[in-house]
Amino acid sequence: MDKAAHGGVQQKGKAMGLTNCPACKKQVSDQAAACPGCGHPMASRTQTIEQTGLGWKLADAGGGIGVILGLLVAIGGHGVLGVWMMVLGLLVWLAGRVGGWLYHG
Ligand SMILES: [Zn+2]
Repeated sequence: MDKAAHGGVQQKGKAMGLTNCPACKKQVSDQAAACPGCGHPMASRTQTIEQTGLGWKLADAGGGIGVILGLLVAIGGHGVLGVWMMVLGLLVWLAGRVGGWLYHG
Protein backbone atom coordinates (compact mmCIF):
# COMPACT_ATOMS: atom_id res chain seq x y z
CA MET A 1 0.00 0.00 0.00
CA ASP A 2 1.47 3.35 -0.94
CA LYS A 3 0.48 6.12 1.42
CA ALA A 4 -0.47 8.79 -1.10
CA ALA A 5 3.20 9.46 -1.73
CA HIS A 6 2.44 11.66 -4.70
CA GLY A 7 1.33 14.54 -2.50
CA GLY A 8 -2.29 13.54 -2.42
CA VAL A 9 -4.72 13.56 0.44
CA GLN A 10 -3.13 12.67 3.73
CA GLN A 11 -4.87 9.97 5.65
CA LYS A 12 -4.75 9.39 9.35
CA GLY A 13 -5.23 5.72 10.16
CA LYS A 14 -8.94 6.04 9.48
CA ALA A 15 -10.74 3.21 7.73
CA MET A 16 -11.73 5.44 4.89
CA GLY A 17 -12.37 3.68 1.62
CA LEU A 18 -10.49 4.53 -1.51
CA THR A 19 -12.00 4.06 -4.89
CA ASN A 20 -10.68 4.59 -8.37
CA CYS A 21 -11.98 7.45 -10.42
CA PRO A 22 -13.80 5.98 -13.43
CA ALA A 23 -12.52 8.79 -15.63
CA CYS A 24 -8.82 9.14 -14.78
CA LYS A 25 -8.26 5.98 -12.65
CA LYS A 26 -6.76 8.01 -9.86
CA GLN A 27 -7.31 6.93 -6.27
CA VAL A 28 -10.09 9.00 -4.75
CA SER A 29 -11.57 8.92 -1.29
CA ASP A 30 -15.04 7.42 -1.49
CA GLN A 31 -16.18 10.33 0.68
CA ALA A 32 -15.30 12.80 -2.04
CA ALA A 33 -18.17 14.29 -4.01
CA ALA A 34 -15.94 14.67 -7.05
CA CYS A 35 -12.53 13.48 -8.20
CA PRO A 36 -9.92 16.03 -7.09
CA GLY A 37 -7.84 15.17 -10.15
CA CYS A 38 -10.30 15.62 -12.99
CA GLY A 39 -13.48 16.80 -11.32
CA HIS A 40 -15.45 13.75 -12.35
CA PRO A 41 -18.49 13.53 -10.03
CA MET A 42 -18.28 10.50 -7.77
CA ALA A 43 -21.55 8.74 -7.14
CA SER A 44 -21.39 8.40 -3.39
CA ARG A 45 -24.26 6.27 -2.24
CA THR A 46 -23.30 6.39 1.42
CA GLN A 47 -23.55 10.17 1.38
CA THR A 48 -27.11 10.06 0.03
CA ILE A 49 -28.18 7.59 2.70
CA GLU A 50 -26.62 9.72 5.43
CA GLN A 51 -28.34 12.83 4.12
CA THR A 52 -31.70 11.08 4.01
CA GLY A 53 -31.12 9.74 7.49
CA LEU A 54 -30.32 13.22 8.78
CA GLY A 55 -33.81 14.48 7.93
CA TRP A 56 -35.37 11.66 9.91
CA LYS A 57 -32.96 12.23 12.77
CA LEU A 58 -33.99 15.89 12.83
CA ALA A 59 -37.66 14.88 12.93
CA ASP A 60 -36.78 12.43 15.67
CA ALA A 61 -34.98 15.07 17.73
CA GLY A 62 -37.49 17.83 16.95
CA GLY A 63 -40.40 15.59 17.93
CA GLY A 64 -38.69 14.67 21.18
CA ILE A 65 -38.16 18.35 21.97
CA GLY A 66 -41.83 19.01 21.13
CA VAL A 67 -42.94 16.32 23.58
CA ILE A 68 -40.71 17.72 26.33
CA LEU A 69 -41.90 21.29 25.62
CA GLY A 70 -45.52 20.11 25.67
CA LEU A 71 -44.90 18.41 28.99
CA LEU A 72 -43.38 21.61 30.40
CA VAL A 73 -46.30 23.68 29.08
CA ALA A 74 -48.76 21.19 30.58
CA ILE A 75 -46.97 21.30 33.92
CA GLY A 76 -46.90 25.09 33.66
CA GLY A 77 -50.70 25.15 33.83
CA HIS A 78 -51.67 25.17 30.13
CA GLY A 79 -53.02 21.63 30.14
CA VAL A 80 -54.80 21.47 26.77
CA LEU A 81 -52.09 23.34 24.88
CA GLY A 82 -49.42 21.17 26.45
CA VAL A 83 -51.25 17.97 25.56
CA TRP A 84 -51.64 19.12 21.95
CA MET A 85 -47.94 19.97 21.77
CA MET A 86 -47.11 16.57 23.18
CA VAL A 87 -49.36 14.81 20.65
CA LEU A 88 -47.85 16.84 17.82
CA GLY A 89 -44.32 16.17 19.05
CA LEU A 90 -45.09 12.49 19.42
CA LEU A 91 -46.39 12.32 15.82
CA VAL A 92 -43.28 14.07 14.47
CA TRP A 93 -41.08 11.84 16.61
CA LEU A 94 -42.88 8.71 15.38
CA ALA A 95 -42.58 9.90 11.77
CA GLY A 96 -38.83 10.32 12.33
CA ARG A 97 -38.58 6.89 13.91
CA VAL A 98 -40.64 5.07 11.29
CA GLY A 99 -39.06 7.00 8.41
CA GLY A 100 -35.55 6.30 9.61
CA TRP A 101 -36.41 2.66 10.14
CA LEU A 102 -37.94 2.37 6.66
CA TYR A 103 -34.93 3.90 5.00
CA HIS A 104 -32.36 1.91 6.91
CA GLY A 105 -34.28 -1.34 6.59
ZN1 LIG B 1 -10.60 11.62 -12.01
